Order: sequence, then structure tokens, then C-alpha cells
Amino acid sequence: MTVANGRALLAIPGPTNIPDRVLQAMIRPAEEIYTGAMVGLTDSLLDDLRKVFRTKSRTYIYAANGHGGWEAALTNVLSRGDKVLVLSSGRFAIGWGEMARFIGADVEVLEGSWRASVDPAAVEERLRRDKNHEIKAVLMVQIDTASGVVNDVKAVRKAIDAAGHPALYMIDGVASVGCVRFEMDAWGIDVAMTAAQKGLMTPPGLAFVAANDKAHRAHEHATMKTLYWDWTARQQPPHYMKYCGTPPEHLLFALRAALDMILEEGLEAVWQRHALLADATHAAVSKWAEGQVLSCNVVEPSQRAASVTPVLVQGIEPETIAKYTETVCGVTLGSGIGELTGKAFRIAHMGHVNAPMVMGTLSAIEMALNALNIPHGAGGVAAAIAQLARTTSAQGDARQAEAAKPSQAEVAERVTAPA
Ligand SMILES: *Cc1c(COP(=O)(O)O)cnc(C)c1O
Repeated sequence: MTVANGRALLAIPGPTNIPDRVLQAMIRPAEEIYTGAMVGLTDSLLDDLRKVFRTKSRTYIYAANGHGGWEAALTNVLSRGDKVLVLSSGRFAIGWGEMARFIGADVEVLEGSWRASVDPAAVEERLRRDKNHEIKAVLMVQIDTASGVVNDVKAVRKAIDAAGHPALYMIDGVASVGCVRFEMDAWGIDVAMTAAQKGLMTPPGLAFVAANDKAHRAHEHATMKTLYWDWTARQQPPHYMKYCGTPPEHLLFALRAALDMILEEGLEAVWQRHALLADATHAAVSKWAEGQVLSCNVVEPSQRAASVTPVLVQGIEPETIAKYTETVCGVTLGSGIGELTGKAFRIAHMGHVNAPMVMGTLSAIEMALNALNIPHGAGGVAAAIAQLARTTSAQGDARQAEAAKPSQAEVAERVTAPA
């Protein structure tokens, strides 16, 4: 028997749920591409992207997915043979590094863990040993969508500074921009990139890059530049040049609506919503974990991402749970990827999500655990509800307002608090 008919719920970490307002913004005729309304639209988007990256620096829009954004970021600042240090905490920084190697960089991976954040002290130690400053760029993801780790971008910047190292600091914010606090200027990020289809709630097909003056200085003598990604070409006044060809107009209409929604809600409120929903999700998983079969992949509560939660499953195929939630409940979960292939499922709580969507997802999982007789601590959903009732209460609001992301101690306390 299935109770799946009704609105299908996509709980995968990208592409995420697209709001109706964003979908409807695309139902309109195309526009002239050299003059007129498109010119103003592009300017407004480049400006508002500065707001979501929290930077005064230049921004660029590419007709590309996140991988295209990676290539845009790399080719504009690197020269053939440049050494690049990749800080790993899962799959995505490694993927970015593979791309750098493919185009001719000398890539070194600072080994990390799939279950913990990048260690700033290890970064400092490695950079101190690079006395001749051969390393030209440091690549890191803020949230690794495969492992569910969130890295401390500010702390790693401090480590780079403590080592007195001049490398460019490049951050992948695909699974974090529009989900958690991201402060390009305040945290000293030189190049930031993201894509449309995760926190930014827009159909896949757009990538965004922001680059500061230091990155633009590196750009001047970079030898990996290609015309399609080239920042200098894209700074030329003709509107057509801003996209190196026909603008992806309908995706831009969609992005306009999505950015309007984010700015109307308020970026800090968006971060807070993600933090609260993630916190509730972690409370549910912690409860289920009492059955010794399920557990959060990321060990330390403070290192768990607020946009996606990979859940390890021991002794049974995670696919059996995902298949159940999809066919019986109409909820599609993410599968484990990379090292977690066949070992985990992923719950996305990213972008256009609210309490009923996340609670519905958690309920479908708990139904699966019951129906499939998978040992678990009873009352995971109840724990999530209690958590959210507490944190969204007036008192919780005042506390949460101090920081969109709760402190380590707070999260630890809340995750372990009895329901
Ligand atoms: C999804 C994702 C990417 C890749 O984006 P694509 O659009 O699939 O190319 C890169 N980095 C992170 C952190 C991601 O989550």
C-alpha cells in the first residue's frame, strides 16, 4: 500500500525544491539581449549576489553548473604548474582539486577526515613549511555535501595569516551560500563560488563567482585563462559580453525571483531557519541512533552542516530506507556518495524548506524504520518537534538572534537534551 500521491517531496542536496514563485518567473517570453530590460536585470543580479556573498567585490554569472564555477574560479587566477593545496573534508574539495590538476596545476591534498572539519592547525603547519611560497592557492569547501561536514572558514583564514602565507584563499560555497553564514569580505576570502540549485533555490544551470582585488591582481598574469570564463572579457560594457554570448535569460528571471525571496526574508533569517531545521534533524537522528544502526556521519555536533545530514546505516542497505520513503511516502532522500556510497542516506534541509517539509521527511524516515523493523530509538520525530518548539519560542528567538549558527556548547546541549 502506498500513501505517496500528493505533492512529492525532494529531500536531496541539490537540485533542491524550487519555489512556485521562482518557477512562475520563467513563464514569459524571451527578451532582446543587447539593450533594454536585460541590462538592468544583469546589474541587479550582480549587485544582489554581492549581498549573498557579503562582499563589495566584483561578481560574475556563468551559464554553467557548479563544476563550471570551479573551472571559472581556477582558470582566472592560476598559471600552469602553480601549486594548489586542497583541504579535504569529504568529496567536493577533492573534486575541485581534480579539476585543477586536469588543467595543469600541481595539486597537493592535505588529507582530512570524512567525519570531521578541516583542522586549521594542520593547515598552518603545512603552510609554514612552504617557505618559498610555492603554494599559490588554497581550496576548501565550506560545507561538504557528501560528508555533511561544515568547515570553519574564518579559522582557516586565521591559520593562513598565522603562517604569513600569501596564497589565494578560495572557497566553494555551493552547499552553504544562502544556507549558513558566509562572509566573503569579513573572513578574507579571495575567490568564492557557488551555484544556483542549492541554497539559492533556482533551477540548475547558473554558477556564480566573486573575486576580490587580490584575486584580480593574480588574474592579470594568470596563464590558464580561457575566453569563456575570462573576467576581463566579462567586464566589458556590452551586455552580451557579461555572458560571453546569449544570456541564460529564463534562469536569470528565476534567479531574480529567488534572490528577491531571500532578501525579503532577510539573509540572517534564512541562515537562522536553516540552523533551526538542521538542529531538529540532528535531534531526530541522535534519537534514532540509540538503536545502534543509524548515526550522524559527522561526529562532533558543532561540525555538522546546517544544509545536509548524511546518516550512516550499519548492517542494512540504506537504499531500502530510501526506496521505502519514496514509494510509500513520496519523499526522495539523497543517497550516499563517495566513501559513503552504500553506507548512508542523506537528508537535505537546504533552500526552500520549512518545518512541515523537514518534519515530513523525518516522519517518512521514521515510518520506514518502523515498517522495516530497523532498530532505532523511538521518538526521533518527537525529539525534533520538541527541539523546534523550544528553539522557535520567543526565548529561543532572542538567543538565536545573537548568532545564526548556535555555539558548539549550545548545539551539544540541545542535541543531547532529552526530548
Ligand atoms: C553540488 C556541489 C558542487 C557541484 O555542483 P554541480 O552543479 O553539480 O556541478 C560543488 N560543490 C559542492 C559543495 C556541492 O554541493
